[in-house]
Amino acid sequence: MTTQLDVTYCENHPNVESTLRCNRCDKAICAKCAVLTETGYRCKECVRNQQKTFDTATPIDYVLAIGIAVILALIGSLIVTRIGFFTIFLAPVAGIIIAEAIRRAIQRRRSQRLFQATAVAVAIGGLLPLLSVLVLTGVSVGIGSIFFFIWPVVYTVLVTSTVYYRLAGISL
Ligand SMILES: [Zn+2]
Ligand SMILES: [Zn+2]
Repeated sequence: MTTQLDVTYCENHPNVESTLRCNRCDKAICAKCAVLTETGYRCKECVRNQQKTFDTATPIDYVLAIGIAVILALIGSLIVTRIGFFTIFLAPVAGIIIAEAIRRAIQRRRSQRLFQATAVAVAIGGLLPLLSVLVLTGVSVGIGSIFFFIWPVVYTVLVTSTVYYRLAGISL
């Protein structure tokens, strides 16, 4: 028989009836306190603790990772796109080198946001030579120069995805 006594209340809001429980610590929570995660409803404390263990990057890591990403992706772009078609094979190699250099610099620390910022930095570094040429020539290069565009773009797409997946995809 269900009575009023069976009603549980949110541990954070003693006046609010609890409709959910945190699936990690089993704490009674109300709709306002519940956070929907990939694995179900959790209380805010558990979500915060979880983020802390996943996000161990320091501000220095951002400076190091973004700096290395832009510089190496730029150097790689200048070298790799000269060889035309072989960009397809060499861009992933450049991506591995860049990812390893960054991993060494930030050691074992990790953060999803850091890896996303790094991927953006790689893309900027990879497109920098192309963008600077476009700015200098006033974007009037013309359709005949499609091969001028295609390799820097191919390089940037390949190198960015390689770096991101090597950094973010390992030991998640
Ligand atoms: Zn919890
Ligand atoms: Zn609550």
